[in-house]
Amino acid sequence: MPASLPGYAEAATLIAEHAARLAERIPRSEEIGLELSLGRVLSHPIRADRDMPAFPRSTRDGFACRAVEANAHALLAVAGSIRAGDPPAGPLPPGAAWEIMTGAAVPAGADAVIMLEHVEVAEGKVRLAAGRSIEAGENIVPAGAEARAGDELVPAGTRLGPAHIAAAAACGCALLPVIADRPRVAILTTGDELVPVDATPGLGQIRNSNAPMLAALVTQAGGEPWILPTARDDAQQLESALLQALTADLLLISGGVSAGKFDLVEPALARLGARIHFTGVRIQPGKPLVFCEIPRGNAPTLPAFGLPGNPISSAATFLLFAAPLVAALAGSNQKLPRFDQAVVARDIKGRPDLTRFVPSTTAFANGQTLATAVGSQGSGDLAAFARADCFVMIPEGLDRLRAGSPASILRI
Ligand code: AMP
Ligand code: MG
Repeated sequence: MPASLPGYAEAATLIAEHAARLAERIPRSEEIGLELSLGRVLSHPIRADRDMPAFPRSTRDGFACRAVEANAHALLAVAGSIRAGDPPAGPLPPGAAWEIMTGAAVPAGADAVIMLEHVEVAEGKVRLAAGRSIEAGENIVPAGAEARAGDELVPAGTRLGPAHIAAAAACGCALLPVIADRPRVAILTTGDELVPVDATPGLGQIRNSNAPMLAALVTQAGGEPWILPTARDDAQQLESALLQALTADLLLISGGVSAGKFDLVEPALARLGARIHFTGVRIQPGKPLVFCEIPRGNAPTLPAFGLPGNPISSAATFLLFAAPLVAALAGSNQKLPRFDQAVVARDIKGRPDLTRFVPSTTAFANGQTLATAVGSQGSGDLAAFARADCFVMIPEGLDRLRAGSPASILRI
């Protein structure tokens, strides 16, 4: 292997720098209904429209009181009752308590709420149960404790999930400003052996599984897949297919980047004047990965990946290197790839010269995420891949990752 190939970290850094440059483009914004916003990228921050909470809120059913009085364990007269949704009540008279429900405004003058379960009732009055004490502030969220009016709750660039939608709803955002266009990602599969999914392969042929897989990965990363007709391993056909893809925001080419006689992608890219950033990375699977920029006259260059055709190699290299660019083009501030932590259930072999990404399956047991390699016949084994939900990363130079060791995993 040529010593000049970048390692995983080096290639990832180069991609991250490229992503940062792409993120500087200012995309179009539009307003959409909150209920349609899941997965969209916020273009302007969501701010609190009033203090949160807007009134001191009881977090319990019980009795609002003065902590000092309650701690004396004397009987307190019940001065009133307040339910969630009622306007603030009070003031609380001296020597009294106010019945209160979870979510209701704490009456003026009260500084604590005794939980219902900690109250003794006698003669129509209440007192803090013997042996218990209460501190000022207990079971009350003060007005503005969560956020002040105008505070930023969700920054621009956030890909909206359920928690962000809840925060937006709480602030009265029935409409949300989001980035209008998802980046259009062209998917060009290449290979004489490929037939469409609905065809019966002849001997030596296989169905094109990368096109739908890459489309799914693109959608998952926040892009809009654009599947081009499959190109044969033919210089002319490849070049015209590449020309067709020039209007995309990002181009994924699958296959044809290895060292074989019919691996014609790199020469075709070279004929278009592509600036090659790397051709090969010290990773497995995915070593032949190509990353380049194709010139487009005065328009910005088209970033393009030549992904190795083996399905597991294509998936790994997409997640590691293409997903961050899709996210950046989508205006998302989420830095991909995102690794989680797991513990390896069984030994996995490493390599002295490569960072490995091993298809694995995770399970949650004894309070930790356990990752087990699925065991495959190599990076074309789709049956094994279908049993995997992540890649376990084995850093270069590690002879093996032993059972019980912590590991970084990349979710599929
Ligand atoms: P290549 O990168 O073109 O040398 O292809 C490597 C391996 O991946 C070969 O076994 C191909 O048949 C397989 N392959 C290439 N493209 C696809 C595809 N679109 N779907 C499924 N397998 C593919
Ligand atoms: Mg091929």
